[in-house]
Amino acid sequence: MDPALQRRLIEEVANAVIRHTDELTSLDQAIGDGDHGLNMKRGAMAVLEQLDQLAAKPLPDALKASGQVLVMKVGGASGPLYGTLLMTLGKELPVAPNRDDLVRAVGAAVEAVKKIGRSDMGHKTLLDVLGPVHDELASGGPGLADRVRQRSAAAAKATIPMRAIKGRASFLGERSIGHMDPGARSSSLMIAAVCTVMEE
Ligand code: ADP
Ligand code: MG
Repeated sequence: MDPALQRRLIEEVANAVIRHTDELTSLDQAIGDGDHGLNMKRGAMAVLEQLDQLAAKPLPDALKASGQVLVMKVGGASGPLYGTLLMTLGKELPVAPNRDDLVRAVGAAVEAVKKIGRSDMGHKTLLDVLGPVHDELASGGPGLADRVRQRSAAAAKATIPMRAIKGRASFLGERSIGHMDPGARSSSLMIAAVCTVMEE
């Protein structure tokens, strides 16, 4: 991958997280402990501090290194989950991936997150965005980046009526219904940033 494109991807994803800190905070205040915005912002800032080194690495190494930063800096439940996601993508993707490589790698990353979180689709977590995004990617065809972005936004919204089975929100039982899952929202906004850069 072109280092300039890789740099833009990292920057846009990190800045999208930072721009949405307050929204993620209020979502996590509603059904969690209110730290998701600051957890994710801390991770995004740490990634931006290493932007030059990360942009210069081959794609798989940049993904693995970013994943390690997230594990160390984000904390909470989401740090290890997003860290695993990126580290698995780094392990699975070749230096210059095509769409088939991407579909396979995202599938492996979703499985790795399920395993670490001992969770599945339908539990009202970030997996409820990652799973549908994997399906959309696999469907291929024209306008894929735009479709993936729309699918991820719709999937995050679809967590609103769900009852949480995993994570802190599950402690609320029925009262977790009616709020968007914070991790689903952070996933959708990072995916949207990737799609926008890829479209350009
Ligand atoms: P914490 O819940 O420790 O405060 P965060 O607030 O940073 O951590 O992240 C919360 C998000 O993490 C949730 O909205 C959910 O999407 C995700 N999450 C929590 N537990 C799990 C799990 N077991 N499996 C998958 N995702 C989870
Ligand atoms: Mg939290």
